[in-house]
Amino acid sequence: MQDQKKTALVCGAGGFIGGHLVKRLKREGFWVRGVDLKFNEHAATEADDFVIGDLRDQQIVRDVVDRRFDEVYQLAADMGGAGYIFTGENDADIMHNSATINLNVLDACYKRNIKRVFYSSSACMYPEHNQLDPDNPNCSEDSAYPANPDSEYGWEKLFSERLYLAYNRNYGMQNRIARYHNIFGPEGTWDGGKEKAPAAMCRKVVKAAEGGKIEVWGDGMQTRSFLYVDECVEGTIRLLRSEFQGPVNIGSEEMVTINGLAQMVIAVSGKKVGIENVPGPLGVRGRNSDNRLIKEKLGWAPSQSLREGIERTYAWIEREILRQCGQHGVAE
Ligand code: NAD
Repeated sequence: MQDQKKTALVCGAGGFIGGHLVKRLKREGFWVRGVDLKFNEHAATEADDFVIGDLRDQQIVRDVVDRRFDEVYQLAADMGGAGYIFTGENDADIMHNSATINLNVLDACYKRNIKRVFYSSSACMYPEHNQLDPDNPNCSEDSAYPANPDSEYGWEKLFSERLYLAYNRNYGMQNRIARYHNIFGPEGTWDGGKEKAPAAMCRKVVKAAEGGKIEVWGDGMQTRSFLYVDECVEGTIRLLRSEFQGPVNIGSEEMVTINGLAQMVIAVSGKKVGIENVPGPLGVRGRNSDNRLIKEKLGWAPSQSLREGIERTYAWIEREILRQCGQHGVAE
């Protein structure tokens, strides 16, 4: 069976986006191998073969890349939300772990004569000085240099982008690079410190008492855009199969303030809940995707409204929390 099907390798398949990508590739009829340090906590994997393995280990990577896969997606990284990336406490791990994964996976693919690997970079590699004005952040792809990301996570992404491009230049590969902007949706981390703003807001609102308040980090006027995971997967697959190597933004252009996001979540919940702005790790002042290049090169860009994605995500997190309460008999 496997011989007749197209094959795909998803590194980071136990993660949020990787889990959704595996499902999508299975719907398309691929034979899929996933690899990760862990299974996905929120949904059983649909991969035909799932390897629990550490991609920092060269031997494990060589064993996993044991054939010429038709498509390879490299999403594994040591990452998290602002509470993980911006405190400075995890910088050495973030840089060492993610760079080692990329060095190993790319080289193993090259040595297996796999020509094309998709790499998930991040909007966190854009220079801080272009993101100080919350109303007019500049995240066009050509604004990346001179480089000045505001986190070591962003610097590692920049290094790895250059690594994939160097293999294109020197070894005739055709790697593809996307810069994701804040991806959210069901089956993502929603507590524990590595969750992103939309999931954190949904959790806080679900758990808030009627008439109570939720805490929002900073003055709430910092801006961001958020992309629903299905559109991220769509853009990822389109880019890998296109003739454009990138780097290109995969994000939403619907920019909101963080307080605006909190208000949207509260409106979706139908609850009476207020907002209290408190000090916390923040990241840049403003960030929005710039989709001119992706429209030009792929003839496609994300189009779903933030509200639609929040509705689906809120409903899922609410179910998860209720399920937990059912198991433990009490909410935290
Ligand atoms: P995630 O943390 O859910 O998934 C990453 C996965 O990589 C995790 O399951 C983790 O266990 C795995 N991993 C980490 N170290 C590993 C190792 N040594 N060996 C094997 N597996 C390892 O993150 P995600 O949100 O699904 O993001 C996927 C990719 O997209 C990452 O590279 C991330 O940097 C990038 N990205 C995500 C966003 C976002 O908003 N989610 C934004 C920009 C970029």
